[in-house]
Amino acid sequence: MSPISPVFTNISSGIEKYKWKTLMTDPVEQRRAQSIDVLHDMPWINDKAIATALTELKQLDFAPEDLRYLKSMGVEIPFNSGKEAVDFIEKENIRILFDKPAEQGVHAQYDFYKNIITINNAYKNTDDFAVMLAIGEAVLHEAGHAKDKDGYSSIQEELSFLGMNAVAHRAFLKKYGDIFSDSSAPIIQDGVSLYAKLFFDPDPEKKALIQRIRDKYGDLPSGDRLHPPGIIARNAKKNKYTNSLLV
Ligand SMILES: [Zn+2]
Repeated sequence: MSPISPVFTNISSGIEKYKWKTLMTDPVEQRRAQSIDVLHDMPWINDKAIATALTELKQLDFAPEDLRYLKSMGVEIPFNSGKEAVDFIEKENIRILFDKPAEQGVHAQYDFYKNIITINNAYKNTDDFAVMLAIGEAVLHEAGHAKDKDGYSSIQEELSFLGMNAVAHRAFLKKYGDIFSDSSAPIIQDGVSLYAKLFFDPDPEKKALIQRIRDKYGDLPSGDRLHPPGIIARNAKKNKYTNSLLV
């Protein structure tokens, strides 16, 4: 009988196979395991807007009553504080850069294969503190996608991370007062401020939130393995085509 090859040993055992796959072939694990030259790979450390965004995020605590409210809407958030998110970003060597987004109108995105959070370069060199806070909120959202390590999204996943944005935004409002309303930046008016309003809308059916999620994310599956769909996500999916026929 010929000896079993090490490769076959890996394949033959479920646990070993999983470890082997995770360590050797998962591009995110590979990227995160690489040691990086901080000054070369993380120029954002010297970027005032990103440094300010991360400092502010690190000090941000979410109000327990806001978290309970989200839970009642079927929203589970990936980080319980801004500090948890920043610690995760540092531990996983996630880079944050300004760059042109893949699609126009995208404020920020996470590239699963490169392990990079990209902020729309329209905000590069901003000296507007409110925009820096909004960048912090965008980083928080994208760190949620990074935590999943799966490279795809769903309506429920977006809903959960946008809900986290809403509580983060309310925490900034509590800390700094309404410093956002004067800004015309889309990352604020069509982003973080909008979702804080939509999630905490007194309408118990959250119709405006469902419509927004449907318009932006209606093509995604309603949920996924890590984010089973709740009522809002299912409604956003279910009514997508019905409503577009009525318009
Ligand atoms: Zn997202």
